[in-house]
Amino acid sequence: MSVSAKSATSFALRCIQCQAECEQPSPDFRCAACRNLLQVVYQWPEALRGQQLRKLWLERRLSPIPADQSGVWRFRELLPILSRPLDPVTLREGNTPIYDLPRCAQAAGMRHLLAKHQGMNPTGSFKDTGMTAAISLARERGFQWVACASTGNTSASMAAYAARAGMGSLVLIPEGKIAWGKLAQSLEYGAVTCQLRTDFDGCVRVLSEVVQRLPIYLVNSVNPFRVEGQKTIALEMMEQLNWEVPDHVIVPGGNLANSSALGKAFLEMRELGLISRLPRISIIQAEGANPLVRSLRENQGRELQPVQAETLATAIRIGNPASWKKALAVLRATEGACIDVSEGEMAVAKAEIGSDGIGCEPASAATLAGLKRLVRDGFVGPEDRVVLILTGHMLKDPEYTLLFHRGELLAEYAEAQPSRRPPVLLDANADSVLRVLETHRQPA
Ligand SMILES: *Cc1c(COP(=O)(O)O)cnc(C)c1O
Ligand SMILES: [Zn+2]
Repeated sequence: MSVSAKSATSFALRCIQCQAECEQPSPDFRCAACRNLLQVVYQWPEALRGQQLRKLWLERRLSPIPADQSGVWRFRELLPILSRPLDPVTLREGNTPIYDLPRCAQAAGMRHLLAKHQGMNPTGSFKDTGMTAAISLARERGFQWVACASTGNTSASMAAYAARAGMGSLVLIPEGKIAWGKLAQSLEYGAVTCQLRTDFDGCVRVLSEVVQRLPIYLVNSVNPFRVEGQKTIALEMMEQLNWEVPDHVIVPGGNLANSSALGKAFLEMRELGLISRLPRISIIQAEGANPLVRSLRENQGRELQPVQAETLATAIRIGNPASWKKALAVLRATEGACIDVSEGEMAVAKAEIGSDGIGCEPASAATLAGLKRLVRDGFVGPEDRVVLILTGHMLKDPEYTLLFHRGELLAEYAEAQPSRRPPVLLDANADSVLRVLETHRQPA
């Protein structure tokens, strides 16, 4: 009995609130009856079972065809959303490493610590794993234009995949408060890039009107197919961990789609017998952009009060997260924690990750900052197996890093001092260089 790509699994789009099925989604991917988000649901064939899938996915790693070399489409049995599954728009996304972080483990009071580095994707963030799915669908459905509102990484990714597919792309980003690396990518890959005089949440509002008025395919994370691509982060993680489920997976929360995708993946893996238990999935927000944390604190998650978001971690500078209900369901299903961390904690955590030789962007470092708190609170034990999701690459936002090490990012934050490694300006002679070395300990 073989599980071939041809054994079609049927899927439907279903409202997460009223459960209505949606044949023809509206341009903004919301339920026609109650305006909540949709999710992809499957009727898995009987033949689709754990052991065979594991073997099949492993074998594909030796294959030369692009769909098999993609760390997303290699797992296509769990996201059977394309009519032509062997012909996706792919940049060979996914395939990201898991590293151990010994210095960070020590800083957090843990015995071991692992990080899956999504910054190692083609455009430098996990957004690529979802974008390959959204753009492939847009092409199958005959769209010539795609669009997104973005804090930066979604637009960088969309611009690249749209270029690969020969489609036009429209980016709406907030004026200012966007990391240079991300803006540069959007320009380089040829997106029509509009900086609007508003914040991310304002860009979302404008875009929802634009897609009602023109046939443009929306690839914001309300697009349920992006979530399907992002699920593969968890599938690949489990393969790398030899299918031994970690105790905790920790992820930053902005628009809350990535946490939703991870949760959906683990639930589906359990349903298909690929794993037998769930990790706790915990979500870390920035103190200045913490609407989900507040909602849980103030009304047990019954409603979400949007906040005016403010944080230097621009990727999670979101006050009205679209996927909050999906993320809340994941927190409940996996009994994860949802907490916020300060700007200083994130900045120090980022430099600590750096001292393990791994560069990530500020939002990604929220995971380590959050872990430290969860260890202090006893929610995570020192022996637990923990995987942090590092969502983006350090070179997205080099300005933040430079300002931090020069002491200009959070000038008054004394706890950051030991983590700072500012450049030294010297006269051009060996003596002055050697004097500097004398003041530095040998690395451990
Ligand atoms: C998009 C993004 C996030 C936030 O993910 P959500 O799915 O919006 O919660 C975090 N970090 C980076 C680097 C991102 O690009
Ligand atoms: Zn509904």
